[in-house]
Amino acid sequence: MYSKLINWSLNEFSSLPWRKKRNLYTTLVSEIMLQQTTVSTVLNHYPVFIKKYPNIKSLSKISEEEICIAWKGLGYYRRARNLLKAAKTIDELGSFPKEKSELIKIPGIGEYTASALISIGDDRPELAIDANIERVVSRLYGVKEQKGLKLQKKIRTELYPKIEKLFKTYSSRELNEALMDLGRVYCQARKADCSICPMKSRCIAFKKGKPLDFPEKPKEKGSKKYYDLKLARFVVLHQGKVLGYVKNEQSWLSGQVEIPTFIIKSEDSSLVQYPKVRKVIKEKANGKIKSSITKYRIENHYWVVSKADFERISGISKGYKYFKFDRQMGNFSTTTLKILNKVIGD
Ligand code: SF4
Repeated sequence: MYSKLINWSLNEFSSLPWRKKRNLYTTLVSEIMLQQTTVSTVLNHYPVFIKKYPNIKSLSKISEEEICIAWKGLGYYRRARNLLKAAKTIDELGSFPKEKSELIKIPGIGEYTASALISIGDDRPELAIDANIERVVSRLYGVKEQKGLKLQKKIRTELYPKIEKLFKTYSSRELNEALMDLGRVYCQARKADCSICPMKSRCIAFKKGKPLDFPEKPKEKGSKKYYDLKLARFVVLHQGKVLGYVKNEQSWLSGQVEIPTFIIKSEDSSLVQYPKVRKVIKEKANGKIKSSITKYRIENHYWVVSKADFERISGISKGYKYFKFDRQMGNFSTTTLKILNKVIGD
């Protein structure tokens, strides 16, 4: 039965660039890129990244700034820094450890990535439970548990003996990837195309007639879905350079450069990503752009000012420095780049 699924996956998706040349390093890069990012986005970035940094040694030599630049367009930059930490540690160790218990000791490698390295990178028996596999397995075996850690625990304890047997017949790599492909293509969270699914004849959720009931949805906490956030951003230019700061480890977009930014108004009073404006800005903003991040819908009002005016308006003179403005190479956040492109023009 799984042969049908695996053949479908091999026929349809063997040409994905990260499935062409496999080793533990390429698996580490592709798996970290694919977390929280769509296949279509990674398709454009993976080949460029691997060409530039073809092995652990080449990656381990670069700086945080360099990896953030190479990561541009993939978002969630914490993953880039985790990848770099992992590369530096593996380079120091001399090779990838074999055991999962050793892999998860490497900074930047968590439970899922360790499982993916074993199963996909090394083709050894292991189930790499990402959101797709979690959902697909819950439906195939009819496990009605709330998605997340509880369901993963159930898969690892109650279902694993059944799944383990499959590795005697099928390649762990091919089985894991086929289940992931199924979750991405036919067996999605809000839509299941059961009529054309290669697993429909053995799927318990399908037989019960309610595939979308598996796994259980987390209970609504009654919390607000989005918060509106109004920010003041200041563009201070000097001899082709722009005043900014590097976002710290605890911030959104950490490692990237942003122009000075302050909260004018936030529906979420607990938000501490930016300082609040110290006084009402009387000057009319030069423009406004919209953006969003996690649960925040953001209005970015920007002012183009001199350094003296910025310090007068914000009441702040320290904590910033000038960065060379380069659209291709600069490590600027996307919103900062959009504002600078509007101000400076193409
Ligand atoms: S038959 Fe439907 S619910 Fe079952 S695995 Fe296929 S798409 Fe998912």
